[in-house]
Amino acid sequence: MKRIYLDNNATTQVSPEVLEAMLPFYKENFGNASSVHEFGRSAKAALEDARNTMAGYLGAGTNEIIFTSGGTEADNMAIKGVAHALRAKGNHIITSAIEHHAVLNTCKFLEGEGFKVTYLPVDKYGVVDLGELKKAINDKTIMVSIMLANNEVGTIEPIEAISKIVKEKGITLHTDAVQAVGKIEVNVKKLGVDLLSYSGHKINGPKGVGALYVKKGTKITPYQHGGHHEKHKRAGTENVPGIAGFAKAMELSMKDMAKENLHLVGLREKLYDGITGAIKHVSLNGHPEMRLPNTLSVGFKYLEGESILLNMDMEGIAASTGSACASGSLEASHVLTSMGVDHADAQGAVRFSLGRYNTAEEIDYVIKTLPPIIERLRKMSPLYNG
Ligand code: PLP
Repeated sequence: MKRIYLDNNATTQVSPEVLEAMLPFYKENFGNASSVHEFGRSAKAALEDARNTMAGYLGAGTNEIIFTSGGTEADNMAIKGVAHALRAKGNHIITSAIEHHAVLNTCKFLEGEGFKVTYLPVDKYGVVDLGELKKAINDKTIMVSIMLANNEVGTIEPIEAISKIVKEKGITLHTDAVQAVGKIEVNVKKLGVDLLSYSGHKINGPKGVGALYVKKGTKITPYQHGGHHEKHKRAGTENVPGIAGFAKAMELSMKDMAKENLHLVGLREKLYDGITGAIKHVSLNGHPEMRLPNTLSVGFKYLEGESILLNMDMEGIAASTGSACASGSLEASHVLTSMGVDHADAQGAVRFSLGRYNTAEEIDYVIKTLPPIIERLRKMSPLYNG
C-alpha cells in the first residue's frame, strides 16, 4: 500500500543531501572534535563550519550557537540555565499555556524548586494575550519564554511585540522556535530574543541534534557538566555527523524556503478545501493567516481524533491528533482547550502537517479517502444525529 506521510511536525524524512553530508563523519572523518591530531582538527573544522552556517542563517554571531541533542535539551538549557543564573534577582517566570511539554514540564520542574510561573492565556486562534503579559510582569520576573510557532495548530506568536514589552523591563526572553526555524524567516535580532531553541529533525535533518542561540552577555548556568565543550556551556562530545547534517538541512530549507512555502500553502489549502467541500461540521484550529505554511489542524465534530487516525492509517495516511510527545494520552490537547475549543470538539482534532516531499496526488488521495471514513465513524457516534 502507498503510504502518505502528513505528520511532518512530529518529524521529517532526512533529505538525501543531508544524509550525504553526514556520511563522511561516520566513515573516514570520524574524529573527536576535541582531539588535537588531524582527525580531531578535521572534525573541529566541520563543527565550526556548521556553527558558522547556523549562525549566519539566524543573524547570530558564530559564538552564540550552542549545539545540543535536540529541541528539548535546548529548551531545558535555556529555561533552567537562566532561572538558576538569575535566581538572586527574582523567581518569577512567564510562559504561555500552549507551549510544548519541553517548556511546560521544565517550568513545572522549576516550580518544584520554588520558582513561580505564570502561564499566559491565548485567544481563540492561539495567540498570546499581550495585555495579560504586561499585567503578569512584576519586579521578580526574570524570564519570559514564549514559542515562536505552535506545533499543534501552527499559530505564529508575536515575538517582536513581546520583545518590546519584555526588553523595556530588562527581562530575558527565550523563544522555542523548533517549529519555526527553516519554515519561516527567523532572525534573532529582528525578533529581539536572548535565547532561541531549534531542532534538526523538523527540517529534514537528523534526529537527536538541535541548537540553542544564546545572545552574547546572556547569563546562563550550564546544567550539564563534564568537559569544556561548546564554550563551557554544554559538556559532552559533539555529535559531528548530526551537526553537519543539521547545517545541511538548514541550508536546504533556507535556499528553497519561498518556493517550498508556496508549494506547502498550495497543498494545505487544497487539503482544507477538499475537506470542507466534502465533510460537514468541521472547523479550522489555529490562526487563519498567522500560521505555519505546512500546518492544518482540523476539528471533526462528534468524533474522536484517535479513531480517525487509526482509520486513516489503515488506508496508508499518517497524521496526528497533536503533539507526538502527547499521543497515547486520552486527555484533550492543552493547546486546544487553552484556545477555548470545547472539550468534546478538541477530542476530534486531527493535525495534518505537510512537508517537502508531499505531492498534489497525495492530497487528492486524502481528499478522496477521508470523507467516507468520517461518514462511517459518525454513523457509529452516539453524539451524531445527522
Ligand atoms: N518544541 C516544540 C515546539 C516542538 O514541536 C518539539 C518537538 O515536537 C520540541 C520542542 C522538542 O524537540 P526535540 O524533538 O528536538 O527534542
